[in-house]
Amino acid sequence: MNIVLLGAPGAGKGTQGKNLSERFKIPQISTGDILRANVRSKTTLGQKAKEYMDRGALVPDNVVVDMVVERIQAEDCINGFILDGFPRNIRQAEALESTLDGMNKKIDAVVGINVDRKELIRRLSGRRVCRKCGANYHVIFSPPLNIGSCDKCNSEIYQRDDDKEETIEARLKVYEEETFPLIEYYSKKHLYRAVDGIGSIDQITKAILDTIEKGRNNS
Ligand code: AMP
Repeated sequence: MNIVLLGAPGAGKGTQGKNLSERFKIPQISTGDILRANVRSKTTLGQKAKEYMDRGALVPDNVVVDMVVERIQAEDCINGFILDGFPRNIRQAEALESTLDGMNKKIDAVVGINVDRKELIRRLSGRRVCRKCGANYHVIFSPPLNIGSCDKCNSEIYQRDDDKEETIEARLKVYEEETFPLIEYYSKKHLYRAVDGIGSIDQITKAILDTIEKGRNNS
């Protein structure tokens, strides 16, 4: 099962990707997480990516595509994968398709998570992340038990640079201009379906599973 999760920053792709990964026992591939790990360890890739990430722009396609092509060929993707944050534009989608063609594989479902702009800004501006395990919190809706430290591993919780107000606007604009056209792209291929991204995490996971199942029965 090869799944693509689409949605604006803050729509919940990371959270839902994690649930789907546990459910289907296939890896979640988050390009944002891979890039951030590279920035943290100051690799050449990370140093190159940082300047784009800090201003909310997309990292150049060739960098991200190479990274994903290598990742989906890894042993643990044999039974499938969940892409979270990739593709982000039509060029990346085309590169993915031709890579999968070459591997005799295909995308089984593209699920878009719909959340309105006001809610996205509310979520992103209050989001806090554990530096070590990546657990997500929100200053108002789901704060950690002890301010500043992770409930799961006790490490420091921080605000991502690109979750600051001015960068959020830039990221949403990039989404609208570059990523949004993928909805039409995948709709034409009869792969796209959308779920409402407002509700409890479990409710949304169920809606995603239902829509994937429906698509399987119709194909
Ligand atoms: P995310 O964690 O998915 O919100 O990604 C954080 C940042 O990483 C984005 O704002 C981009 O700068 C970069 N990034 C993540 N995925 C991609 C991608 N597929 N193409 C280009 N840049 C990306």
